[in-house]
Amino acid sequence: MPPSDRTADAAVPGSLVVAAAELAAYCGRLLAAAGCSTAEARRVADRLVVANLTGHDSHGVARIPRYVGMVESGLVVPDQRVRVVSEGGAYVLLDAGQGFGQTVGEEAVAIGCARARQGGVAVVGLSNAGHLGRIGDWAELAAAEGFVSIHLVNVRGRSIVAPFGTPDRRMSTSPFCIGVPMTGATPMILDFATSMVAEGKAMVAAAGGPPLPDGALVSPEGLPTTDPVALYGPSVHDAAPDPALGAGALAVFGAHKGSGLNFMIEILAGALTGSGVNRTLKDEDTKPFANGMLSIYLDPDRFVGRAAFEAEAQAYADYVRSARPAPGHDAVLLPGDRERMLRAKRERDGIPLAPGTWQGLAALGRRLGVDAGDLLDPAG
Ligand code: NAD
Repeated sequence: MPPSDRTADAAVPGSLVVAAAELAAYCGRLLAAAGCSTAEARRVADRLVVANLTGHDSHGVARIPRYVGMVESGLVVPDQRVRVVSEGGAYVLLDAGQGFGQTVGEEAVAIGCARARQGGVAVVGLSNAGHLGRIGDWAELAAAEGFVSIHLVNVRGRSIVAPFGTPDRRMSTSPFCIGVPMTGATPMILDFATSMVAEGKAMVAAAGGPPLPDGALVSPEGLPTTDPVALYGPSVHDAAPDPALGAGALAVFGAHKGSGLNFMIEILAGALTGSGVNRTLKDEDTKPFANGMLSIYLDPDRFVGRAAFEAEAQAYADYVRSARPAPGHDAVLLPGDRERMLRAKRERDGIPLAPGTWQGLAALGRRLGVDAGDLLDPAG
């Protein structure tokens, strides 16, 4: 990629555009230097780069300094496998033993799909997982196997979201995801945090990336703000800013309805799986950061039949898409459309990294003795 193209992302001054394959290779070497096996390092790096490709820079390679810090402090244990805690019929409960989410998430989906293949439906609880990244990954994996899936996730040790009606932190970003397979086409994937934005979007904004939407954060006084200092306090400019240090909070999405959905996700993904819910602001002192995930897998062949299901789903999608776009909108988008379009663009043009993100990765490489070559050199 010529240098002029690499700094050309006019929307975000100081960003650097890099090719996905080279970025994944470098990030894999960083994670291997931090203690992961080569296979796990590439698995984690590849999934983070897919998050960048699909436009979720919040869950992309910007996470690597934090992941390396988690390995170094023992919060995440490289090369863990899931352990079956209990099982019976359609359900399985798994303990991930603080393993990398990208590894244990793949295992949990494979187990869920195998069970749903047998009985038509499966419910899998996953406890004590390292960061599971972009939850859409897991719905996409299940869709590739032909299953509808629903995923509810909580974030233990991360009370950083204010419920509706208070500026005080009590909730986590608790993402919600539904995936619908469509034979021969990209699956429909709804995937979002139940905070107004995922925490990583504040991290990327603090690194010089796109600013946050209005009302994404709440000040300690309960007023809407877009300043990441509300979340990170004095660590706002660190490569891995600490969301425990801010005096404000992330806002919930959808006012009282989003707040209620977030609350119930925390109970199902945290309490029912045994991963644990947040009980105090400083839970990380006693319970390390972890994702809990409750997943449901459904085989369309056992319901109305795959062909009938997909025909009806497609007809509905066509009907919704046929609505007139409102002023300021090019088209009516369905779940997964934005990610599919961005992926095609970024696979072709490269991934723009915010200034703090590429500088943080370069600094990490220097510390771990991993040579970035000219990948993170704006003049390279
Ligand atoms: P977001 O606000 O960008 O919402 C994404 C969803 O909205 C997608 O389903 C997308 O297809 C849809 N969408 C986007 N624009 C649309 C439009 N114009 N019309 C219709 N639909 C549209 O996402 P977010 O809440 O910031 O979450 C980002 C990521 O963070 C997700 O992948 C989520 O899983 C992840 N996350 C993970 C954790 C964790 O602990 N592992 C926690 C929180 C969030």
